[in-house]
Amino acid sequence: MGERTVMATIEAHRQLEGAGFEVRRPFPTPRLAQLDPFLLLDEMGPVDLEPGAARGAPDHPHRGFETVTYMIDGATEHEDSAGHAGRIGPGGVQWMTAGAGVIHSEMPARELVTDGGRMHGFQLWVNLPRRDKMTSPHYQEFRADQIPTVTREGAVVRVIAGTFGAVTGPVVTHSPVSDFHVSLEPGAEVTVPIPSAHTALVYTFGGDGDGTLRVYAADGDQVRIVNSGDDPGEYLVLAGEPLHEPIARYGPFVMSTSEEIEQAIDDYRTGQFGLIAR
Ligand code: MN
Repeated sequence: MGERTVMATIEAHRQLEGAGFEVRRPFPTPRLAQLDPFLLLDEMGPVDLEPGAARGAPDHPHRGFETVTYMIDGATEHEDSAGHAGRIGPGGVQWMTAGAGVIHSEMPARELVTDGGRMHGFQLWVNLPRRDKMTSPHYQEFRADQIPTVTREGAVVRVIAGTFGAVTGPVVTHSPVSDFHVSLEPGAEVTVPIPSAHTALVYTFGGDGDGTLRVYAADGDQVRIVNSGDDPGEYLVLAGEPLHEPIARYGPFVMSTSEEIEQAIDDYRTGQFGLIAR
């Protein structure tokens, strides 16, 4: 085994989401529907917002997968039809298992709307195994100081999910998934252990290669990240065991069959997802 080779390098494209905020999206694209078990990756910003310019994603449903919000700068506030509400600040993560379904809103924090400021974060969609798609919705939320770090020479690794060396992240996942945020000083490098059968992705979001996603071949058990640029490098490392299950997908619903999608649409239209109490 050893170091994996890069199978594809994908430039993120820009598009509008929610009520009109721009994201950089390496996938899905018409040519790349998913990277099993991952369904979507969006980078929000970084953007320095004027007062009144912040936009979010007002009330919308999800069923059949997990949404992961990880903030770098700025904060978002969320609430949902299950009565849950909270705030995700810089360095914090919310890992939401939509399961059978929720309606939620994801909005910039109030002070970001009124005063403006810097907004930068990620949303990742992780598919649920078929057996867990209709599980009860639940949340895992961790502040920056609750996410353990590993330091190497010139490198800091924040372990959100999965295991890096002796450190295991706080998020519990339905199938084996790793989610690491790696920061590298110029000239530094780090080797990330990843089980050989897992899908392995590295998205660069600062420094040399900003906005590109590398997809690795399953030909080794580690991924080496090198910052050969002159600026600090920031990397999101995602790895997961492929589910190898059929995917039926329509907007915010990700199920296994078209009948289950029809059911999700019908359940949403008839109010089965509930409402956000305000
Ligand atoms: Mn959402």
